[in-house]
Amino acid sequence: MKFEQLGLIKPILDALSSQGYKQPTPIQEKAIPSILQGKDLLGSAQTGTGKTAAFAIPILQNLSDKNQPKNHIKALILTPTRELAIQIQENFQAYGKHLKLKSLVIFGGVKQHHQENDLRKGVDILVATPGRLLDFISQGIIKLNQLEIFVLDEADRMLDMGFVHDVKRILKLLPPKRQNLFFSATMPKEIANLASDILVNPVKVEV
Ligand code: AMP
Repeated sequence: MKFEQLGLIKPILDALSSQGYKQPTPIQEKAIPSILQGKDLLGSAQTGTGKTAAFAIPILQNLSDKNQPKNHIKALILTPTRELAIQIQENFQAYGKHLKLKSLVIFGGVKQHHQENDLRKGVDILVATPGRLLDFISQGIIKLNQLEIFVLDEADRMLDMGFVHDVKRILKLLPPKRQNLFFSATMPKEIANLASDILVNPVKVEV
Protein backbone atom coordinates (compact mmCIF):
# COMPACT_ATOMS: atom_id res chain seq x y z
CA MET A 1 0.00 0.00 0.00
CA LYS A 2 1.18 3.50 -0.86
CA PHE A 3 0.14 6.87 0.53
CA GLU A 4 -1.05 7.77 -3.01
CA GLN A 5 -3.72 5.05 -2.75
CA LEU A 6 -5.23 6.66 0.33
CA GLY A 7 -6.50 9.62 -1.68
CA LEU A 8 -4.17 12.22 -0.23
CA ILE A 9 -3.54 15.56 -1.90
CA LYS A 10 -0.17 16.43 -3.41
CA PRO A 11 0.99 19.00 -0.83
CA ILE A 12 0.61 16.33 1.84
CA LEU A 13 2.18 13.56 -0.26
CA ASP A 14 5.15 15.85 -0.89
CA ALA A 15 5.52 16.57 2.81
CA LEU A 16 5.39 12.85 3.64
CA SER A 17 8.08 12.01 1.13
CA SER A 18 10.30 14.76 2.45
CA GLN A 19 9.83 13.18 5.90
CA GLY A 20 11.20 10.00 4.34
CA TYR A 21 7.95 8.06 4.82
CA LYS A 22 7.72 5.38 2.13
CA GLN A 23 4.41 3.74 3.04
CA PRO A 24 1.62 4.05 5.58
CA THR A 25 1.78 2.05 8.80
CA PRO A 26 -1.15 -0.35 9.47
CA ILE A 27 -3.08 2.15 11.59
CA GLN A 28 -2.59 4.84 8.95
CA GLU A 29 -3.81 2.50 6.22
CA LYS A 30 -6.94 1.71 8.21
CA ALA A 31 -7.72 5.07 9.77
CA ILE A 32 -6.92 7.67 7.10
CA PRO A 33 -9.70 6.80 4.59
CA SER A 34 -12.42 6.80 7.27
CA ILE A 35 -11.25 10.06 8.81
CA LEU A 36 -11.13 11.65 5.34
CA GLN A 37 -14.80 10.67 4.96
CA GLY A 38 -15.63 12.55 8.14
CA LYS A 39 -16.39 9.48 10.23
CA ASP A 40 -15.85 9.13 13.96
CA LEU A 41 -13.09 6.71 14.89
CA LEU A 42 -12.12 4.58 17.87
CA GLY A 43 -8.45 3.60 17.66
CA SER A 44 -6.73 1.12 19.95
CA ALA A 45 -3.11 1.91 19.35
CA GLN A 46 0.07 2.50 21.29
CA THR A 47 2.56 5.27 20.69
CA GLY A 48 5.11 4.12 18.10
CA THR A 49 2.50 2.75 15.67
CA GLY A 50 2.33 5.97 13.67
CA LYS A 51 -0.96 6.92 15.30
CA THR A 52 -0.22 10.65 15.35
CA ALA A 53 0.15 10.78 11.57
CA ALA A 54 -2.95 8.57 11.29
CA PHE A 55 -5.06 11.44 12.60
CA ALA A 56 -2.90 14.48 11.70
CA ILE A 57 -2.71 13.74 7.96
CA PRO A 58 -6.48 13.42 7.31
CA ILE A 59 -7.29 16.33 9.63
CA LEU A 60 -4.94 18.54 7.63
CA GLN A 61 -6.51 17.37 4.38
CA ASN A 62 -10.09 17.84 5.61
CA LEU A 63 -9.37 21.36 6.78
CA SER A 64 -7.37 22.27 3.68
CA ASP A 65 -10.38 21.52 1.47
CA LYS A 66 -12.33 24.44 2.67
CA ASN A 67 -12.00 28.07 1.99
CA GLN A 68 -12.72 28.88 5.55
CA PRO A 69 -12.50 32.06 7.51
CA LYS A 70 -9.31 32.29 9.49
CA ASN A 71 -8.91 32.92 13.16
CA HIS A 72 -10.98 30.23 14.70
CA ILE A 73 -10.08 26.83 16.07
CA LYS A 74 -11.32 24.09 13.75
CA ALA A 75 -9.52 21.08 15.25
CA LEU A 76 -8.63 20.39 18.88
CA ILE A 77 -6.29 17.61 19.98
CA LEU A 78 -6.30 16.90 23.71
CA THR A 79 -3.38 14.92 25.05
CA PRO A 80 -2.20 14.29 28.63
CA THR A 81 1.39 15.54 28.67
CA ARG A 82 3.45 18.45 27.48
CA GLU A 83 5.88 16.13 25.67
CA LEU A 84 3.13 14.43 23.70
CA ALA A 85 1.51 17.78 22.92
CA ILE A 86 4.77 19.17 21.52
CA GLN A 87 5.38 16.05 19.40
CA ILE A 88 1.86 16.12 17.99
CA GLN A 89 2.10 19.77 17.00
CA GLU A 90 5.49 19.11 15.36
CA ASN A 91 3.83 16.39 13.31
CA PHE A 92 1.06 18.75 12.17
CA GLN A 93 3.69 21.26 11.19
CA ALA A 94 5.73 18.72 9.24
CA TYR A 95 2.85 17.13 7.30
CA GLY A 96 1.16 20.48 6.74
CA LYS A 97 4.22 22.45 5.70
CA HIS A 98 2.84 23.12 2.20
CA LEU A 99 -0.61 24.08 3.49
CA LYS A 100 -1.78 27.37 4.89
CA LEU A 101 -3.14 25.98 8.14
CA LYS A 102 -1.75 27.21 11.43
CA SER A 103 -1.20 24.86 14.36
CA LEU A 104 -0.28 25.77 17.92
CA VAL A 105 0.55 23.87 21.10
CA ILE A 106 -0.42 24.98 24.61
CA PHE A 107 0.43 23.31 27.93
CA GLY A 108 0.75 24.19 31.58
CA GLY A 109 3.80 24.70 33.77
CA VAL A 110 4.99 27.77 31.89
CA LYS A 111 3.83 31.40 31.89
CA GLN A 112 0.87 31.91 29.62
CA HIS A 113 1.69 35.16 27.85
CA HIS A 114 3.63 33.67 24.90
CA GLN A 115 0.90 31.12 24.27
CA GLU A 116 -1.71 33.85 24.66
CA ASN A 117 0.00 36.09 22.07
CA ASP A 118 0.17 33.18 19.63
CA LEU A 119 -3.49 32.34 20.21
CA ARG A 120 -4.53 35.91 19.47
CA LYS A 121 -2.88 35.70 16.04
CA GLY A 122 -5.37 33.01 15.02
CA VAL A 123 -5.08 29.22 15.05
CA ASP A 124 -6.71 26.52 12.93
CA ILE A 125 -5.42 23.45 14.80
CA LEU A 126 -4.84 23.54 18.55
CA VAL A 127 -2.95 20.84 20.47
CA ALA A 128 -3.49 21.17 24.21
CA THR A 129 -3.22 19.62 27.62
CA PRO A 130 -6.54 19.84 29.50
CA GLY A 131 -5.67 22.17 32.40
CA ARG A 132 -4.11 24.95 30.35
CA LEU A 133 -6.92 24.74 27.80
CA LEU A 134 -9.52 25.22 30.56
CA ASP A 135 -7.53 28.19 31.93
CA PHE A 136 -7.64 29.93 28.56
CA ILE A 137 -11.30 29.08 28.05
CA SER A 138 -12.25 30.51 31.44
CA GLN A 139 -10.42 33.74 30.58
CA GLY A 140 -12.33 34.01 27.30
CA ILE A 141 -9.11 33.73 25.27
CA ILE A 142 -10.09 30.45 23.64
CA LYS A 143 -13.51 29.76 22.15
CA LEU A 144 -14.39 26.36 20.76
CA ASN A 145 -17.84 27.15 19.39
CA GLN A 146 -16.72 26.63 15.78
CA LEU A 147 -14.82 23.41 16.36
CA GLU A 148 -15.22 20.76 13.65
CA ILE A 149 -12.87 17.97 14.73
CA PHE A 150 -12.11 16.77 18.26
CA VAL A 151 -9.32 14.29 19.04
CA LEU A 152 -8.84 12.63 22.41
CA ASP A 153 -5.35 11.11 22.42
CA GLU A 154 -4.07 8.58 24.98
CA ALA A 155 -7.42 8.44 26.74
CA ASP A 156 -6.25 5.77 29.18
CA ARG A 157 -3.37 7.97 30.33
CA MET A 158 -5.80 10.87 30.71
CA LEU A 159 -7.71 8.69 33.14
CA ASP A 160 -4.56 7.56 35.00
CA MET A 161 -3.40 11.14 35.37
CA GLY A 162 -6.75 12.27 36.76
CA PHE A 163 -7.81 14.37 33.77
CA VAL A 164 -11.16 12.75 33.09
CA HIS A 165 -13.12 15.43 34.94
CA ASP A 166 -11.34 18.15 32.93
CA VAL A 167 -12.01 16.28 29.69
CA LYS A 168 -15.70 16.06 30.52
CA ARG A 169 -15.82 19.80 31.25
CA ILE A 170 -14.20 20.52 27.90
CA LEU A 171 -16.62 18.20 26.07
CA LYS A 172 -19.57 20.20 27.36
CA LEU A 173 -18.16 23.30 25.63
CA LEU A 174 -17.89 21.75 22.16
CA PRO A 175 -20.51 22.18 19.45
CA PRO A 176 -22.58 18.99 19.19
CA LYS A 177 -22.07 18.50 15.46
CA ARG A 178 -18.44 17.54 15.00
CA GLN A 179 -16.12 14.69 14.03
CA ASN A 180 -14.58 12.79 16.97
CA LEU A 181 -11.43 10.68 17.02
CA PHE A 182 -10.62 8.71 20.16
CA PHE A 183 -7.33 6.91 20.78
CA SER A 184 -6.29 4.71 23.69
CA ALA A 185 -3.65 2.02 24.11
CA THR A 186 -5.97 0.05 26.40
CA MET A 187 -9.77 -0.04 26.71
CA PRO A 188 -10.77 -0.57 30.35
CA LYS A 189 -14.47 -0.17 31.07
CA GLU A 190 -14.27 3.48 32.10
CA ILE A 191 -12.49 4.34 28.86
CA ALA A 192 -14.94 2.34 26.76
CA ASN A 193 -17.78 4.24 28.47
CA LEU A 194 -16.13 7.59 27.80
CA ALA A 195 -15.63 6.58 24.17
CA SER A 196 -19.28 5.67 23.77
CA ASP A 197 -20.32 9.01 25.30
CA ILE A 198 -18.22 10.88 22.73
CA LEU A 199 -18.36 8.87 19.51
CA VAL A 200 -21.22 8.48 17.04
CA ASN A 201 -21.18 5.24 14.99
CA PRO A 202 -17.40 5.02 15.13
CA VAL A 203 -15.21 3.03 12.81
CA LYS A 204 -13.06 0.79 15.02
CA VAL A 205 -9.39 0.34 14.31
CA GLU A 206 -7.09 -1.91 16.29
CA VAL A 207 -3.37 -2.38 15.77
P1 AMP B 1 3.71 7.80 16.79
O1 AMP B 1 3.15 6.42 16.98
O2 AMP B 1 2.71 8.75 16.24
O3 AMP B 1 4.36 8.30 18.05
O4 AMP B 1 4.85 7.71 15.67
C1 AMP B 1 6.04 6.97 15.86
C2 AMP B 1 7.15 7.40 14.90
O5 AMP B 1 6.94 6.87 13.61
C3 AMP B 1 7.29 8.91 14.74
O6 AMP B 1 8.67 9.22 14.88
C4 AMP B 1 6.85 9.17 13.31
O7 AMP B 1 7.56 10.24 12.75
C5 AMP B 1 7.15 7.87 12.61
N1 AMP B 1 6.24 7.55 11.50
C6 AMP B 1 4.89 7.74 11.48
N2 AMP B 1 4.36 7.29 10.33
C7 AMP B 1 5.38 6.80 9.58
C8 AMP B 1 5.48 6.19 8.29
N3 AMP B 1 4.39 5.97 7.55
N4 AMP B 1 6.69 5.79 7.84
C9 AMP B 1 7.79 5.99 8.61
N5 AMP B 1 7.78 6.55 9.84
C10 AMP B 1 6.60 6.96 10.33
